[in-house]
Amino acid sequence: MKLRLAVACAALLAVVGPHTAFAASPHWEYRGAHGPAHWAALDSGFETCAKGAQQSPIDIRDALVTPLPALQFSYGSVPPAIVNNGHTVQVNLPAGNALTLDGHRYELLQFHFHTPSEERIQGKSAAMVAHFVHRDAEGQLAVVAALIQPGQANPGFESVLAHMPAHAGETLTVDGLALDLAALLPADRGYYDFDGSLTTPPCSEHVHWLVLKQPVTVSPAAIRRFRALYAANARPVQPLNGRVVRVSP
Ligand SMILES: [Zn+2]
Repeated sequence: MKLRLAVACAALLAVVGPHTAFAASPHWEYRGAHGPAHWAALDSGFETCAKGAQQSPIDIRDALVTPLPALQFSYGSVPPAIVNNGHTVQVNLPAGNALTLDGHRYELLQFHFHTPSEERIQGKSAAMVAHFVHRDAEGQLAVVAALIQPGQANPGFESVLAHMPAHAGETLTVDGLALDLAALLPADRGYYDFDGSLTTPPCSEHVHWLVLKQPVTVSPAAIRRFRALYAANARPVQPLNGRVVRVSP
């Protein structure tokens, strides 16, 4: 395999997804004076981070068991572009991979990681989470969250976590690497369903969250590799404010 490293330009990054606008947006971090408690004060465009009533992530408790439409993934094998965007490692994907939910099609744009998992279940976070960010023709976002625990290696995640660019702004492509996207998901597609927001500035709302109940596993070494780059990049959980969380039986 041949590695190709590129320092991505800001214009390119700006078009591929909500987590990639780092070059154009004010500096924010996960701790200290630019940490989550201060995001809204960093830029007028970030005020939803403080004023929003449907913010993510949340601690999932007391979910209402109810039949939910099946998540239909039309995911293929793709050559990934692995980006270190200064807040996480993100994998940008070519068009053609989709989630269909209740007859509605969302295109997969990218996935990226947080550690620990941002979403909690009964107060507990997982070691990591992968967020699969989808967008429909009207621009509405649907994010599928796959919780990640240490355990047996997942070949797809291992290949990504073995090729993370070391520095913010760098993109890595790997000649000959075809990532089987469906193999990144757990076998059981049961999920939690709720309305929320982006978990990074500008914290925009009307994001449809679909958190898979069954975690996937990656090797402890892969988790350590990610944490060597990003030791902690999870926003704290946000108030539910009366939102109903539904869960498939
Ligand atoms: Zn995320």
